[in-house]
Amino acid sequence: MTLLWGSRRSQAVLLKGLPRRRAPKPATPRADAGTRISSDTRLFVWQRDAGRCQGCGSRKDLQFDHLIPRSSGGSSSAENVQILCRSCNLRKGATVVDDKGIEVVC
Ligand SMILES: [Zn+2]
Repeated sequence: MTLLWGSRRSQAVLLKGLPRRRAPKPATPRADAGTRISSDTRLFVWQRDAGRCQGCGSRKDLQFDHLIPRSSGGSSSAENVQILCRSCNLRKGATVVDDKGIEVVC
C-alpha cells in the first residue's frame, strides 16, 4: 500500500472509525465457461426457430436444448442448440437426434 499523506500513525488515526473494506474477490472463470449458451447464440437460435418448440410448435414453457447433450460432448454452438418446450424436452431426455429429428444410437 502506498502512503499518500503523513505517517502511518497519522493515517491510522484518520482512518480510525471508518468501515474496513475487503478487496473484491478476483473474478474466477465459471466452471461451465464455454459450455453455456451465449446470449448471441440464444438470440440467433430464437430467431432461426421462430420462437417455437421444434417438436410441437408450442410457444409456452420454451427452453434451449442441446441436440447432442453437453454430457456427450455436444457444443453450445447454434448448430447444436434448438428450442423445445418443457414437455418435449422432458420427453427427449438425453437422447441424441440428428438434424432430421431421427434418434441416433451412440
Ligand atoms: Zn414441444
